[in-house]
Parts: sequence; C-alpha cells; structure tokens
Amino acid sequence: MRSATFELPKHFFFATIFDLDPFLLQKHIKIEKAKARELRQTQWWKQQLGLGICHLCGQKFAAKGLTMDHLIPVSRGGKSSKKNVKPSCRPCNLKKSNRLAVEIIFDEKNDS
Ligand SMILES: [Zn+2]
Repeated sequence: MRSATFELPKHFFFATIFDLDPFLLQKHIKIEKAKARELRQTQWWKQQLGLGICHLCGQKFAAKGLTMDHLIPVSRGGKSSKKNVKPSCRPCNLKKSNRLAVEIIFDEKNDS
C-alpha cells in the first residue's frame, strides 16, 4: 500500500487510495487508533509526556495536560508512528484539528 502512494508527486499524496476508497480509510483509522492506544502505554510516550513541552506552542505543561497529536492526522492517512506523534496541549490540539499546515513536512515525519 505504501509503495503505491510514494510513487506519486508529493502534493498528490492526499488524493490517494484513502480518498478513493472510504472503506480502506475506515480500516486505516481503526488500525492507527488502536496503535495510538498501544503507543500511549509505552515508556517512550511517557518520556515524551515527561518532557512536558507542547510541540505546537512550545509551552510547558504537566503530563496530564498533554494529548497525543498526530502531525499528519490519521483521518488524512497519517500513522501512529513515533515520528508522526508529538505531545500537544489540549487547546493547541483542538485548534489544529484536521488542518494540514503539516503536509509539507510529510516526508520527514510520517515515514517510520
Ligand atoms: Zn500548545
């Protein structure tokens, strides 16, 4: 699945199989949400929260004030990989929602 999408020019990425096949997108979301749940239990994620920095506003928060933010939203084909998730505070995560200012950095961040 991945090799097919990566042969496309960068700006075409989001018009891939996920847009063409809603069933596949639902399946992707289900898998990646489950992976996010697992990732939240890992030592690695607890360390990230321990640093206490929101990657969007750069302010410091208690671990419980931070959420898992997907740089590329799962609903847009992003993965629950270490490179695609960062701690963000709740206000920032809400603000960001599904906005895609991050599309540009897709290549560096989403590949795991
Ligand atoms: Zn923030």
